[in-house]
Amino acid sequence: MTVSETVRLTKLRLEPIAKEESLQQAKLLVAAVIGAEASALSVHSWMEINDEQLRILGELIERREKGEPLQYILGEWEFMGLPFNVDERALIPRQDTELLCETALERIRNYAYRDVLDLCTGSGCVAVALQKLAGVNVTAGDISGDALELAKENAEINDAEVTFVASDMFGGIEGAFDLITCNPPYLSGKDMEQLQKEITFEPAVALYGGVDGLDAYRKIAAEYKPHLKPGGTLLMEIGSTQGESVSALFSGRTRILNDLSGNPRVLIVENI
Ligand code: GLN
Repeated sequence: MTVSETVRLTKLRLEPIAKEESLQQAKLLVAAVIGAEASALSVHSWMEINDEQLRILGELIERREKGEPLQYILGEWEFMGLPFNVDERALIPRQDTELLCETALERIRNYAYRDVLDLCTGSGCVAVALQKLAGVNVTAGDISGDALELAKENAEINDAEVTFVASDMFGGIEGAFDLITCNPPYLSGKDMEQLQKEITFEPAVALYGGVDGLDAYRKIAAEYKPHLKPGGTLLMEIGSTQGESVSALFSGRTRILNDLSGNPRVLIVENI
């Protein structure tokens, strides 16, 4: 490092009084700017930061203060322990959705499923995680060309082999699968009026499920049967208040799983 660079270094310290969640976010932003691991940053020590890094950090903090989700600012986020690019082309992978993925992995193991279809794939997080972690054949569809582009990037980053298809639910999908996963848009008109600021940055097409939030499930219920093999499973993420209303749309054997907060989150439909 040159002398002039050295003298331009500024000292920065994270405020220990920050609330735990803000502190974690601040650490992730600082870590991204100075190229360190967030876990290596401590509130007790000073970090060296140069003028340019300080300027960039200021810009990132300003974006966060305007409500932009931390994940979009960082541009990457983890799902099922794998790295994913995230931006406004698709929904940010949620920890809640790991339940959908874990349930899928369990059924792939228990029933030796080979062929998987992931609809409304968005960032591709479920499709990529299943291909990568279970080695199954995965086809993934989305109505949004932007989302498909992002999902392709994510398959590449993770060295996962996924076949991507532009599809309006099952329209454009050929053949039958052992397992179908889907995290469709399921927010109602009322939910859309009361969105947390961060969520307004995410694509409405990935969130809005029609006036009562159930449009996507009606479409799936009407279209899935020819695409699910005998003994196969359809797994869908649902909103926490939708367990009964979504189950009522499906005639197969259904079961609801709760997420870590105890809310209904996944609907299992078995083709028996
Ligand atoms: N779980 C998301 C939320 O509450 C909604 C995701 C979806 O519609 N699939 O913001």
